[in-house]
Amino acid sequence: MIEVNELTKRYGDKTAVDRLSFTVRPGAVTGFLGPNGAGKSTTLRMILGLDRPTGGTATVGGVPFREHARGLHHVGALLDAGQVHGGRTAAAHLSALARTNGIAPRRVHEVLEEVGLEDAARRRVGGFSLGMKQRLGVAAALLGDPPVLIFDEPINGMDPEGVHWVRGLFRRLAAEGRTVFLSSHLMSEMENTADHLVVIGRGRLVAAEPLKDFAARSLSAQVLVGTDQDAELTEVLTAKGASVEPAGVGRFTVTGMPAVRIGALAAEYRIALNELTTRAASLEEAFIQVTADSVEYRTGESR
Ligand code: ADP
Repeated sequence: MIEVNELTKRYGDKTAVDRLSFTVRPGAVTGFLGPNGAGKSTTLRMILGLDRPTGGTATVGGVPFREHARGLHHVGALLDAGQVHGGRTAAAHLSALARTNGIAPRRVHEVLEEVGLEDAARRRVGGFSLGMKQRLGVAAALLGDPPVLIFDEPINGMDPEGVHWVRGLFRRLAAEGRTVFLSSHLMSEMENTADHLVVIGRGRLVAAEPLKDFAARSLSAQVLVGTDQDAELTEVLTAKGASVEPAGVGRFTVTGMPAVRIGALAAEYRIALNELTTRAASLEEAFIQVTADSVEYRTGESR
């Protein structure tokens, strides 16, 4: 279990993480989702004791990570796969980690096999593709057989076969009762992987709920309507309970009312339509919609 309470990180006058609170439970894959720059890495680094919070707390298994002796037995993490020393072989890298964490040497072979790198064990990491480095990072995270696993953008740089494999691995680790927390800036990466979502934007919590609840928000069909009679359309549809949002000049996105009813009302009130299209919002769109405010704010900032 990971518990984050009012966690805050400021860099000068910039607030990267803003009073963030959420819980990540065992036995499930939880996706940590937010646009680039939302504060995901900063949050993960604070959970892992690599950055000191300006305020609030983060605990793993009820204890701040720094206070865990022999950390790899408690939490396995993959933050930046590119960071590994290039001159070492995969096996040497993992052996060094095992030694300093009091882990049996035989685990090195086991985890290399687990991530499909047994044939590359004696090769130098410098020659690895990003996908292979990701696999090596996953191997390092698994080394101490920890109950909690944290991965920052683990799917980045993996080929389709690797993505398929790592998804299966996350599911299996969760099914074994572990806490699995993975970050991504892409909703599509979560769609077939996560049970729960923690969504942030501009360092703040946007949503924390089962993925299916998040998806349900987007399942209400949207209808794209075009007309020059903006005010009349908005008035009529709003009065009948629909929600009308501008979507460009003379175009609107209507939710909460099917196209056939919109067409009938437009005819009744003599509003000429030049477009009437039903579209189902994808999960990706729900995510973009939900985080849009934070992104707009961000691009409006001078940075
Ligand atoms: P994400 O992982 O969601 O892409 P980050 O946690 O990397 O976001 O960054 C959140 C914000 O904090 C960004 O605006 C970033 O520029 C800023 N930031 C991160 N680390 C530092 C740092 N060491 N010094 C100053 N600003 C930082």
